[in-house]
Amino acid sequence: MVKRCDREQEWRSERERIIGLGERSFRKTYYPQMKQSSERLERFRTLLDHTSDFVMLITLPDAMISDVNEATSKLFNITCKHLIGRPFHSLGLANSAHILEQLTQQSQSFLEDNNDDFQHDTTISEYLRDDVEMWLELSFRVARLDGRFYGVMVGRDVTERIHNEQILNSLIYEQKALLDNALVGLIWIKDRRIVSCSRRFEDMFGYAQGAAIGLSTQVLYLDQETYEGFGATAYEALAEVGKFCGSVQMQKSNGEPIWCELTGNMINPKQPDEGSIWIFSDISEHILTQEKAVFLSLHDSLTLLPNHRLIADRLQQAIAVAGVKKHQVAIINIDLDRFKTINDLLGYSASNQLLIDVAERLKQSISEEGTLSRQGGDEFLALIPELLDADHAGAILTTILEDFNQPFYVDGKEINLTCSLGVAMYPDDGQDFETLLSRSDIAMYQAKHSGRNTYRFFSDDMNTAASEHITIAFGLRKALELNQFQLYYQPQIDITTRKLIGAEALIRWIHPEHGMIPPNKFIPIAEETGLIIPIGEWVLVEACNEVAKWRDAGMESPVVAVNLSALQFARGDVEKSVVMALEQSGIEPGMLELELTESIMIRDPENVLATVQRLKSLGCRLSIDDFGTGYSSLAYLKRFAVDKLKIDQTFVKDLTTNQDDAVIVRTIIQMARNLGLKTIAEGIETPEVLDLLQLYHSDEAQGYFIARPMPASDFFQFMLKSFKSDCA
Ligand code: C2E
Ligand code: CA
Ligand code: CA
Repeated sequence: MVKRCDREQEWRSERERIIGLGERSFRKTYYPQMKQSSERLERFRTLLDHTSDFVMLITLPDAMISDVNEATSKLFNITCKHLIGRPFHSLGLANSAHILEQLTQQSQSFLEDNNDDFQHDTTISEYLRDDVEMWLELSFRVARLDGRFYGVMVGRDVTERIHNEQILNSLIYEQKALLDNALVGLIWIKDRRIVSCSRRFEDMFGYAQGAAIGLSTQVLYLDQETYEGFGATAYEALAEVGKFCGSVQMQKSNGEPIWCELTGNMINPKQPDEGSIWIFSDISEHILTQEKAVFLSLHDSLTLLPNHRLIADRLQQAIAVAGVKKHQVAIINIDLDRFKTINDLLGYSASNQLLIDVAERLKQSISEEGTLSRQGGDEFLALIPELLDADHAGAILTTILEDFNQPFYVDGKEINLTCSLGVAMYPDDGQDFETLLSRSDIAMYQAKHSGRNTYRFFSDDMNTAASEHITIAFGLRKALELNQFQLYYQPQIDITTRKLIGAEALIRWIHPEHGMIPPNKFIPIAEETGLIIPIGEWVLVEACNEVAKWRDAGMESPVVAVNLSALQFARGDVEKSVVMALEQSGIEPGMLELELTESIMIRDPENVLATVQRLKSLGCRLSIDDFGTGYSSLAYLKRFAVDKLKIDQTFVKDLTTNQDDAVIVRTIIQMARNLGLKTIAEGIETPEVLDLLQLYHSDEAQGYFIARPMPASDFFQFMLKSFKSDCA
């Protein structure tokens, strides 16, 4: 603004220049006091010049700057002198056009309806000073001085404020983006109504933007009861500790259920009216995984049938009900017949498919009445509750067997399956799951032994047999360690000379409590459990060592025959055992005869054949035991290069009375001679049978008539006696 003038005259003319607009009207409207004293006017000017606000007077409608204060000059970096007289728009304010338009309109409206109620407008205008962005807040209005219109503009630099606002806005925006993109949904609730919520919350519950605002939170709950119950617990906790955390199943806007974990916090614990902020996490997947885990822990993963645990639980329940109603409950043990063979044939995935189909069919057979479960492998267990008697269960068993008459189809292959069923009944056969299960298992094995594809109810006899079975199975493990086995020797003679030529080694188990247990009782169990392999090795070593003793005692080398089990070929290393026994004892391989059964040949014949041929090439003798009862393939006999056929005792026993047996025995002997093989007949109990066999040209003989199996020491005496009589 113009410099302060000292002298009155100068001031007057200067004032004339400044206020050239017409002093009177200016004074009248803006500075009425000025009329009274120029000092006051000067003070006022000084005040204007010292204010940090910009003040500017613009003539209207031509929009020329007619006056400015010092602050304005500084702002535009132009002296006051040079600013005055310049067009307003030349200042480069971003919205100067808008300001002028407003001012012009206001002056115009006065001219039209004489309304001098001028509006005060404010705008924020952007201004670039030396390429630096500035923000100005400009207030402007129209003033009328002596009939002329002026625009009076007062402004201030609000750059810092705008910057701060911008920073704040971007912060708010970032926060909102952060909240909206968070994995959790956020809502602000007041009086159980949604005041505001994050975008994520809306997405989670399927609401359009803003659609959830104002709604009662009741819409989020599946039903009124949960809304009230959960709400009561949550708000009680909020009131007490200002916090709550819990999970509840809720619903989306379309009714779809959603599992949520909710964490609530009071905004201001001292002011409950301000409401609470809630974090919502969608835990549906987590719950689903949990539910799945629970399901899988109680079901079989292949067939999805209940598993052992679940059916045990169901049985407990069924027993509780049956106890009250005086009903019976059946536990049916279902085992597929020869499934292992089918499994080998079909392969893993097709077998699995077959098991799924079997499960489906079994489920239909037992219908809704019962529960079917898979125990693993090809074993299923059915539980039939509320039965009046065992006959009632019998009907279901028949249905299961009959339903299996229809073939199964897997990969386009027709598969005929049968199953064996064993049943135990509550309360007669047991009061708890474990007992009933093991008894149904015993009954099932009985059904298998009775030729399969049938059912058996548990009986006490079965129990005795089964418990004996278990006792033997357990005892066998210890028997070897405790040296409870013993070999007996049964003499074999040359049928023509009647001279002793050897002995068959037969195992005995001398049990400390049960006395002597015959091999027929424990050998099958040893085969089942695989224990026959170490037992078989022991027999070989023991028999060979015994022969070594006889040889050392100067006996005329009798041959010892040892029985080999099929499992020793399938799983054990029989060749190694034989070599070891021969080496340890140092006997000639020709002193050892190995008795094989025809069943050895059925499994993996090529492998067995190779082993047998190697055993033969060691120099051992080979004979086929129980000949005539098995599969008797002449081709194998030839290729096995065996030395001897041992005619089974069932044909020998009644030889003198049974014509059929006589024919069979004669045929076997004839055939063996033709093949260049020797024959031995076992089970000879009478002299007549011995004589007849001699007549038929059997080479050797063994049987009670000659001598019963006996301990090694007895056999030694037997040998001594027979050699003495030979010498005599
Ligand atoms: P096996 O190999 O057929 O043995 C002959 C069985 O018939 C023996 O029964 C023998 O005592 C019996 N026996 C012999 N002569 C007569 C007779 O005139 N009349 C009657 N009724 N029986 C007679 P044992 O010793 O009870 O053996 C039974 C079966 O046990 C054997 O039948 C054999 O299969 C098996 N076994 C015995 N010892 C062993 C062994 O060390 N290893 C293997 N793997 N099996 C063995
Ligand atoms: Ca034998
Ligand atoms: Ca035999």
